[in-house]
Amino acid sequence: MTSSPSKTILVLGASWCGIPVSHQLLRALPDDYTLTLINPSTTLYYNVAAVRAVAKDSAPGLGPNNSNIFVPFVPGFEKYGPKFTFLQGRATNVNPETNTVTYLPLSDDQHGSASSSSPEQTIEYAQLIIATGSRAHGDWPFKNSAPLPHLKAALKKTQDQIIAANTIVLAGGGPTSVETIGEIATLHPEKKVILVSASDTLLPTAPAKVGNIAERTLKQLNVEVRKNLRVESYEAGEVLLSNGEKIQADLYVPTYGLIPNTEFMPKELLAVHNSTVKVNANLRTTVENIWALGDVVDCMCKRLMIVPAMVPVVSANVLAVVKGSDEELKTYDEKKLLDAMFVPIGGRFGKGTGHIGGYKIPGLVVWAAKGRTMLMGNPKDFAEGRMMPGFAKV
Ligand SMILES: Cc1cc2nc3c(=O)[nH]c(=O)nc-3n(C[C@H](O)[C@H](O)[C@H](O)COP(=O)(O)OP(=O)(O)OC[C@H]3O[C@@H](n4cnc5c(N)ncnc54)[C@H](O)[C@@H]3O)c2cc1C
Repeated sequence: MTSSPSKTILVLGASWCGIPVSHQLLRALPDDYTLTLINPSTTLYYNVAAVRAVAKDSAPGLGPNNSNIFVPFVPGFEKYGPKFTFLQGRATNVNPETNTVTYLPLSDDQHGSASSSSPEQTIEYAQLIIATGSRAHGDWPFKNSAPLPHLKAALKKTQDQIIAANTIVLAGGGPTSVETIGEIATLHPEKKVILVSASDTLLPTAPAKVGNIAERTLKQLNVEVRKNLRVESYEAGEVLLSNGEKIQADLYVPTYGLIPNTEFMPKELLAVHNSTVKVNANLRTTVENIWALGDVVDCMCKRLMIVPAMVPVVSANVLAVVKGSDEELKTYDEKKLLDAMFVPIGGRFGKGTGHIGGYKIPGLVVWAAKGRTMLMGNPKDFAEGRMMPGFAKV
């Protein structure tokens, strides 16, 4: 007897992209299809606020112990009944030949390491959606990559390390670096804080005047800004810079770039230059029933504005394939995204900079929209699948 083909849509990763794409599909899938979501944690990490949470354990909007930024997402799926299954775990292998994914089950009392005592499990899929995003260098808690207790412990450890350090060096010149060092310098004016940036202006993807404001504001907070330099290594409390200079530092935090979570993917589906997932304009990989979206994809823009642009493309295309009406698939065009950046610096009244479409935004607007509480919208609306960034409906 041959077994009937799987009718499972399998989504890997439950964050800004994986949650809304799952809701859109669950609302429209034919009755005989189900959807399974795999993620190491049961909560959405509102990581926009991580730049503040690494420095403080409570702040306006973030709540005591930053509790407002860890939001359970599973209750938002209960309305779909048996059509939906959540599996807490981490995908460890994708096999396109057998249409199966192997995953390591995890639970909230585990740290999500490969030494987990639970045996690996295998699940079959009809269509597979990769939304596993990326993580920070050195596993600093800027992204969600493990069960909640581990993430909370990592945040607490970072806060304690910042408190204990006299000299702190951050590497990177983008928004995460500028925002994080702004928070540290505002909270701990007594510490020596140094920002090392490889570019000649901070916020290199924004107009230079925006980067210059960021630099001026950081200098007012006594941050030492070192440009056109890279950190080569950090060993035994010593940061080695690309010009040979050495800086004694109690804490070094790399805040540049991110590592794609793709170790479990077949190599031939990944871009050789950066190990992200290669997709076409339909957000489909070279394997017909595997799709990808968000930070994990080989694209230039790694910001939340890709969420409302990519989610409807993947959900519409997967639905079209499932329903057999896939002659004309939807396309994603990065060029159509509005270029914008909001960079609060330290959370004090009016502090920050940014731009929309190259036009500078006053610091007061950046502070009011983002810097005051670091919450742009209600985190529950994102976790429970009512809203996507940009106030787009799911
Ligand atoms: C500190 C920081 C602040 C930011 N602030 C802003 C901002 O203010 N504005 C903005 O536009 N953008 C911001 N960004 C960028 C934004 O966070 C990303 O664009 C966004 O997180 C991408 O979402 P995603 O769903 O693609 O992936 P992620 O958010 O990276 O989520 C991936 C999910 O997949 C899970 N996962 C990983 N591996 C596996 C696996 N093997 N199996 C199953 N699940 C897995 C992860 O645990 C996670 O839950 C910021 C980024 C950082 C680091």
